[in-house]
Amino acid sequence: MAILEILTYPDPRLAKTSEPVTDFGPELKKLCDDMLETMYAAPGVGLAAPQVNVHKQLVVIDIDYDSSDDDPPVLSNKNPRIFVNPRITEKVGEQICKEGCLSIPGEYEEVVRAEFVTVEYQDENGKPHKLEAEGYLAVAIQHELDHLDGRLFIDRLSLVKSKSIKKRLKREAEK
Ligand code: ZN
Repeated sequence: MAILEILTYPDPRLAKTSEPVTDFGPELKKLCDDMLETMYAAPGVGLAAPQVNVHKQLVVIDIDYDSSDDDPPVLSNKNPRIFVNPRITEKVGEQICKEGCLSIPGEYEEVVRAEFVTVEYQDENGKPHKLEAEGYLAVAIQHELDHLDGRLFIDRLSLVKSKSIKKRLKREAEK
């Protein structure tokens, strides 16, 4: 396994749209392993393939970390979830959750998301699945799937807020 480099904003490669996965061979399994290792090492609760410069529809999520107030959270019982070619087929309700992103280190903002989502996806072997998620898992799924469309959580804020955060991040990146 290997720890991969995570692209950070304003890297334009984060804005690319991802292509469907069609090859379910050993290369995909290695990428899943590497992405999980990279996510746990960061540490983070989710990682999308475009964040490691692979523009394929693949995300990994593990929200089952220790509920202590440690920042960053301590991952206790690992419960890795792999979503290949995921599609949200239903969204219900609304929730506001403070989100962060491994591609935007140090930035945390409240984002409005659906409270419940139904997601259809394949596993790393190509087998289809359907999952109904709520709460924080639903947030993580919506956040990671946005990456596949080249969207970041700061794109979901009010225009004024989004613009000022982007301006500051671009200025910091130039230093
Ligand atoms: Zn993210």
